[in-house]
Amino acid sequence: MRNFAYAAIIAACFLAGTLAGWTSLAVRIDHYVYDLLTRLTPLPKANPHNTPEAVVVAIDEETLQARGGMRRIRPILTETLEQLRDANPKVVALDTILSDPGDPAEDGRLEAALRATENLILPCELVATADGTHWEDPLDRFKNATTAVGHVHAEQDRLDGVSREISLEDIANGQRRWALVLEAFRVSRGAGIVESPEDLSVGSALIPAPRSGAGRPMLLRYLPAGIPTIPALRLRDRISTLRGKAVFVGVTALSAARDRLVNPYGQNIAGVEVHAHAFETLARASFLRRPSDLTAFSVAALFAMAAGLVFALLAGWQAYVAGLCVLVAAHIAPVVLFRQNLLFPYFGPAAVAWLSCAGAASYQHFFARRELRRSESEKSRYQQAIHWAAHEMRTPLTTIQGSSEIMTRYALSEEKRKQLSQNINSESKRLARLIQTFLDVERLADGQMEMKREAFDVSAVVETCVARARPLAERKNIRIHLDSASAECSLTGDSELMEYAVYNLLTNAVKYSPPDTDVHIAAEILRGDLRLSVRDQGIGMDSKELKRVFQKFYRTRRAEESGEAGTGIGLSIVEQIVAHHGGRMEVTSEPGKGSCFTMVLNAHVESPDRRG
Ligand code: ADP
Repeated sequence: MRNFAYAAIIAACFLAGTLAGWTSLAVRIDHYVYDLLTRLTPLPKANPHNTPEAVVVAIDEETLQARGGMRRIRPILTETLEQLRDANPKVVALDTILSDPGDPAEDGRLEAALRATENLILPCELVATADGTHWEDPLDRFKNATTAVGHVHAEQDRLDGVSREISLEDIANGQRRWALVLEAFRVSRGAGIVESPEDLSVGSALIPAPRSGAGRPMLLRYLPAGIPTIPALRLRDRISTLRGKAVFVGVTALSAARDRLVNPYGQNIAGVEVHAHAFETLARASFLRRPSDLTAFSVAALFAMAAGLVFALLAGWQAYVAGLCVLVAAHIAPVVLFRQNLLFPYFGPAAVAWLSCAGAASYQHFFARRELRRSESEKSRYQQAIHWAAHEMRTPLTTIQGSSEIMTRYALSEEKRKQLSQNINSESKRLARLIQTFLDVERLADGQMEMKREAFDVSAVVETCVARARPLAERKNIRIHLDSASAECSLTGDSELMEYAVYNLLTNAVKYSPPDTDVHIAAEILRGDLRLSVRDQGIGMDSKELKRVFQKFYRTRRAEESGEAGTGIGLSIVEQIVAHHGGRMEVTSEPGKGSCFTMVLNAHVESPDRRG
């Protein structure tokens, strides 16, 4: 049961942590960690000098101002392409949509420049219209002049707008287009694109881009130092640096760029730069994979189980240290896996680990505390019981000791000797009974013992007790009256325990009464209840004392002053015994006048005539 509850708590922590991992806050934190790891984890070198293969030729603010603005974009492109021809780049990718016809003369010159450029890729775009989305391709005259057309759609995160991935494949209107950058990469490698459900391969590069993720997303690895950028205006001076490069031409001017995006460094960048970074990701084959949901789930479950085991098997500081190790592992795992190019969620598994550790630790803590409290209360209860037994045994032991001493020291008459040996016999029997009662009461309190359930005569019990108490009473000249008019009834339960209880009430009445008084014991049936009462004319108790009289160890000041105080345990046991018989105690008392203790036994009462 205990193990089941513990496992349920761990499972609940796992579930709560996993659910927390799906909240938008968790996604934001995962992004933040991803961006941080991207910054901290160096990319593999592209070549010995680590110079990027991609270069951006930027139609920037300065170029636009000098060349007449966006109105003149086509002549600017024409001029740029003409200049690039001398550089002999590996591939040229344009990021300017050329879907509308412009000035015929300008378009003619642009077409000629496109035709003259080897390995040229033009962009196309997804456009949403009333009848669905379709591709906005370059004009046919431009399209026919190029090697390939690729889409320029870069994903932006819904939550923070950062572009962390691009779709290598997009489909609209039944037509599939590869990404501009993939086309550029393919052309630069002089290879084709081979596709499988799980990945794409271009030459020797195997790109993990499963079709299951819509659009075969590829996670970008931005170069921390950025991509070398040459303003189109200054291309002539830098033309020699472009030999063998992958050149991305596009508008970067803030005022004119079609698409301004944000990278994980928090920088605003133009779409053309994102494509250049994507090209570097491909060229360096530094692909990040996402683990399947099942893998992420399993790892989080592992953390939960580890936390559960740690706090179940270890205790104290060792458990806390091991728990801390589980937490550290949960935080470090994404970092280590990132270095293995695996993009692992951060928040979900970490939340699972934290919740499981906290849940397991609290459960064990409270469980251990409860155990401790129980064992402590058991210990103190046991000590009290020992105390009581020692106290109760003193009287018979004193009688036995005294009687045996008299017998050995003095020459006694046969009759006296017989009486003393009877005394020894009866007191030792009483001692044995006492020990038995003690053990029974102990086991009763512990819930170990099933109380005997047999019918016994109340009058017999009462008579035995009176006979036993009488010698004690006679010493103080106290008369015990047995008002047994209606005591002829039977009770179901344990007669020995009941005898102990009645005897206790009688001896208390004698103990706490002055000499020459009367003690009455009566048994009567009232409204189906057996009321067994012991009434004395003793020192009595006030209402405050009455309230506490059944507490273990409680003794009234009055009793202490009378020099009769005992251990204060007897009545607590009487009450327990009566409760075990399905009854309750009632007390009335008045200081200086006397007390009346009544057992009200409302169960298993039978009148003798009904027994018949
Ligand atoms: P003990 O008699 O050993 O102290 P009990 O539990 O039997 O223990 O009684 C608890 C206390 O209740 C006594 O110490 C005494 O102060 C008070 N008490 C019990 N019976 C009587 C009585 N008949 N008259 C007055 N006080 C009593």
